[in-house]
Amino acid sequence: MQMKRTGRIHYIAAEFTGPACSVQGFTTRHEGVSRPPYNSLNLGTNTLDQLHSVEGNRSLLARAFDISQEALVTVRQMHGSDILIIDEPNEDYSHFLGLESDAIITNQPGVMIGICVADCAPILLLDAEQKIVAAVHAGWQGTAVKLVSKTVAGMNSLFGCNPRNLQVAIGPSIGKCCYEVDAPIRQAFVQSGIPWDSFAEQAGAGKWRLDLAAANRDMLISAGVPAASIHISEMCVSCHRELFFSYRRDGGDTGRQMGFIMLTE
Ligand SMILES: [Zn+2]
Repeated sequence: MQMKRTGRIHYIAAEFTGPACSVQGFTTRHEGVSRPPYNSLNLGTNTLDQLHSVEGNRSLLARAFDISQEALVTVRQMHGSDILIIDEPNEDYSHFLGLESDAIITNQPGVMIGICVADCAPILLLDAEQKIVAAVHAGWQGTAVKLVSKTVAGMNSLFGCNPRNLQVAIGPSIGKCCYEVDAPIRQAFVQSGIPWDSFAEQAGAGKWRLDLAAANRDMLISAGVPAASIHISEMCVSCHRELFFSYRRDGGDTGRQMGFIMLTE
């Protein structure tokens, strides 16, 4: 993944192979209009930032990709396992902001789906054959409920996507360098039957360092996605203050970057 600039948007571009039928990437905090501590490209509507600043930032993102702001879909993320399916065109997606969901799947070209994060892993999926895209919000809760596996299953059952054809990008999130967690989190994974030890390292009594990206990669591989088709940004949002917001590092009062994907045809 490489840093790219389109319009005023600086983002980490995820490159997928095959005929180009989508654009996707992960925004940085650069060149938005929000003031500290949301400086400056805060795309999250659930922060204490001025709403008009967030609107301004969302409009910068839309403009950079030649869509109207009404074609940018984000939802009310709950750290749950509900998936929003968009399979018909809509004039205005801005009211989807009130819908509770943590993943979005669509077959609609020209509709940009986005997941807002500040530590959690944003995951983007493409089936270039069936022309289906998805975006997933995977913090520890979303990972413990296997939301990415449910999304792959949903893409398969609703749109006939073969997991072997999926290409996936896991965006910048909090790295295991900065993500120490305790026993209740481990318990949530163990209860879901997820092999905790393969992506978490013991860091003292009752403490572990959790690698969210690796946990989701393992799940994707179990769901049938080829390992070679899973791309992981190695950047830790907490270590890279100049590029990203981090909820944990910033004590909760911070902005949100976005993982976004859109079918272009
Ligand atoms: Zn770190």
